Amino acid sequence: MSNQENICIITGGSSGIGAAIVKCFEQNGYRVFNLDLKPGENGEYVQCDVSDFNATQKAIENIIKQSGRVDVLISNAGRHLSANIENTSEKVFDDLIDLNVKGAFAATQAVLPMMKQQNSGVILYIASDQALIAKSNSFAYCLSKHALAAMAKTTALDYAQFNIRANAICPGTIETPLYHRAIDAYCKRSGADKQEVHREEEALQPIGRLGQPDEVAEYALFLAGDKASFITGALQVIDGGYTTG
Ligand code: NAD
Repeated sequence: MSNQENICIITGGSSGIGAAIVKCFEQNGYRVFNLDLKPGENGEYVQCDVSDFNATQKAIENIIKQSGRVDVLISNAGRHLSANIENTSEKVFDDLIDLNVKGAFAATQAVLPMMKQQNSGVILYIASDQALIAKSNSFAYCLSKHALAAMAKTTALDYAQFNIRANAICPGTIETPLYHRAIDAYCKRSGADKQEVHREEEALQPIGRLGQPDEVAEYALFLAGDKASFITGALQVIDGGYTTG
């Protein structure tokens, strides 16, 4: 890393994977701006609903104006939804796509002019193992994560000439508030016991446990850095072996 301060913009950095990334990047010398609905423990908080396209672009443009550059964008804000295609209303579909996909589109479009001017930049999309495989009752979520894989690949191709790299990180099941909310909802619907469901989830992972947010953060730090300079347009799986089986 050079002496100049490296600027990272993240969405959804107040909880779970995003919060671990903010902490890890700050510990490694980045100045981190966090666009979220609520403040987190670390980073410089910018109140923003990332499902609002114009608000997201404005917030990012202001940060870039203030800091004079942007080195890394991490598009992480996302919501989970358990439903098959028949049980997904148009409204719920639009809301999920507005955050998981359009939020990433808005953020990417807002950082590209400065990254092109700098002739450098890294964009990381926090996708999911569901960018590679499907899971049952996961129509809109799975679709949104496949869309992020496409965003990483097309952006990588279109902007390689400007020395901008774009990759999708594809985590398996990571123990975050989102994970706990998802299994709480499942237990409420089915009457299953939470401890039991948690143990079953662990047993589903070839490595025998769930992933931790810090493990994803370390991977993101590597991918954002110069040591990953030949890595672009790729789906970066971090899933304890889940998608190999
Ligand atoms: P989380 O719910 O713990 O954190 C999500 C963060 O996004 C929160 O801080 C929340 O306030 C913020 N957020 C939500 N809606 C927002 C909005 N409209 N505008 C701005 N911020 C908003 O979730 P997590 O598990 O850390 O997930 C982070 C990302 O990782 C998501 O995109 C998720 O799909 C993905 N992911 C999670 C897992 C997992 O098992 N936890 C696995 C694969 C991928």
